Amino acid sequence: MTKVELPQLSYAYNALEPFIDATTMEIHHSKHHQTYVNNLNTALEKYPEFSEVSLEELLKDPSVLPEDIRTSVINNGGGHYNHSLFWQFMAPQTRGPSQKLLQLLTTDFESLKNFQAEFSKAALGRFGSGWVWLVKDSASDMLQITSTANQDTPLSTGKTPILALDVWEHAYYLKYQNRRIEYVENWWNVVNWGEVEKRAFA
Ligand code: MN
Repeated sequence: MTKVELPQLSYAYNALEPFIDATTMEIHHSKHHQTYVNNLNTALEKYPEFSEVSLEELLKDPSVLPEDIRTSVINNGGGHYNHSLFWQFMAPQTRGPSQKLLQLLTTDFESLKNFQAEFSKAALGRFGSGWVWLVKDSASDMLQITSTANQDTPLSTGKTPILALDVWEHAYYLKYQNRRIEYVENWWNVVNWGEVEKRAFA
């Protein structure tokens, strides 16, 4: 892959208020995400032979990478990949899921309410830093809820991200301090269901 850049948000830092505060959004995007971008570029600078390989491919199978940069690409490449998705999974003034998506979630999780409860439970159950995911399993074509530690992605286990939630403290500490549950409950108000639907039916 060639140099990556910090993606622009499609909304302002304060657009997700009051659920996600502007200061958290600004630091999260312009500092945390930017650092993953910088570190990933630094790691890959030494190995131009990977310029033709996409980040997704590297994260699916990091064993192709030289050992001295493998961990850095998993952490910083994962950080860049996960956050790039995360920004798209949020939007101001969202509506609930469409009938089509609702039907799918109901098939796999009994109800929207039950899906949200299971997802929130996974968010609370992830010890320390990490991510919660709705993924599509490529083998069964079923939707599943899973979580990963640190900046690990579901790609290395053959799953495709449909929805992601960052549960690192940097994602919520300024507003919610230790109250991760409150952050998660409020986050549902800014979920971009249109983006979820796009990926669920891709
Ligand atoms: Mn983060």
